[in-house]
Amino acid sequence: MKTTRITVYFCPYKTPKDIIFTFFHEQILKNKKSALNTKVTFQDFSARTKKMTVAHAIKVINKLGVWGFCVTKNSKEKVIHYWYKDRKNIKLLSNLFAHEYSHAIFGHSEKLACQCGLAAHYAIKYMQKEKLIKV
Ligand SMILES: [Zn+2]
Repeated sequence: MKTTRITVYFCPYKTPKDIIFTFFHEQILKNKKSALNTKVTFQDFSARTKKMTVAHAIKVINKLGVWGFCVTKNSKEKVIHYWYKDRKNIKLLSNLFAHEYSHAIFGHSEKLACQCGLAAHYAIKYMQKEKLIKV
């Protein structure tokens, strides 16, 4: 069996604004004067995309409590950019990392990544319920 080593780097952000501005960098630059009012196509963790302003996307992320995206540096190196509000919210974090990992490692589509994220979410929920883990 042929195997490929993939290295995944992690890039944490301090605020929803920081990560949104990185993600929509070019679109925001084109519209520098009204960066927050620039319309973008935003995607949450359920594979739904919506047109909204940058300001609104920041609000959505803040409400979600977690958000991230995966960037391909080259075929062997991927970077997961992420932000989270509450490090104790293990369900949301497991969803985020499983989602982005499935993009990074397996090259999964958005729909599959969402399913992986949800699977991790429910696994954690089950383990908490059964007291298999203490979080
Ligand atoms: Zn995704």
